[in-house]
Amino acid sequence: MAINWIESEVIEHIRWTDSLSSVKFKGNVLPYTAGQFTKVGLKINGELVSRPYSYVSSPNEDYLEIIYVHVPGGLLTPALHELKVGDKLHVMEKASGFFVMDEVPKGKNLWMFATGTGLGVFISLLKTSQPWERFEKIILVHGVRTKKELVYQEQIKKFAEDNPGKIKYIQTVTREKEADCLNLRIPQGLETNKIQKLAEVEITLDSQIMICGNPEMINDTVTFLEKNGLERNRRSKPGNITLEKYW
Ligand code: NAP
Repeated sequence: MAINWIESEVIEHIRWTDSLSSVKFKGNVLPYTAGQFTKVGLKINGELVSRPYSYVSSPNEDYLEIIYVHVPGGLLTPALHELKVGDKLHVMEKASGFFVMDEVPKGKNLWMFATGTGLGVFISLLKTSQPWERFEKIILVHGVRTKKELVYQEQIKKFAEDNPGKIKYIQTVTREKEADCLNLRIPQGLETNKIQKLAEVEITLDSQIMICGNPEMINDTVTFLEKNGLERNRRSKPGNITLEKYW
């Protein structure tokens, strides 16, 4: 099916690090659900080059936002990286994807595991009321290489202030030694029980788990969870583990 592209305008470009940025833009897209992804594109040498990105923004906000890593030599992100306020980009009119709260079965606690830019989709989900209303506790685990990639700190602080006692935010940083962070990859943090200890709750058969980010992190995390009796959540057979693999 042909994609309907909407021209939109950059309203802010946040430079978290030299290679990690978020871009906010305005565009008249169709209503979307938190957790869905769109495609963002630019005309490069006369051709529209596009890539999928999850929305970091949430349907109740009046702007759209994505987060991306600038890959030098890549087809799209070097041009994306150049965008300034007022510049135009193309966005797919209709978002898609099933990494949304309606697809997550009932449970006691909700665990959200992200590496790198995979955090973005959880920011979108947590800006909506569903996760807060449906779960007793939310454990947000973000794994990055270096501390400066621990993005959206202010937003996460606001989630905690708005929902006292409901969220545990756990950071893992793998390529630097940092106080207040675990210095290991997420699957190792689970294997060694360090993540669960910081969360002050165990992962149990009534937990729901959402995972987004590095595909190998997803595989290893799923292996750990399956060893502990949790199952993939499928439309045909509901379970505990809902995934978003995006590259
Ligand atoms: P990433 O490379 O996936 O790293 C994010 C976190 O995931 C790191 O803590 C990393 O640990 C961990 N990880 C990697 N492989 C894993 C595995 N098999 N199991 C468990 N955890 C794993 O994500 P990113 O830094 O956001 O980069 C995304 C893409 O952009 C990559 O292709 C990268 O090469 C490219 N890129 C990144 C940067 C940057 O500054 N982050 C700059 C330019 C390009 P380790 O540190 O132990 O790998």
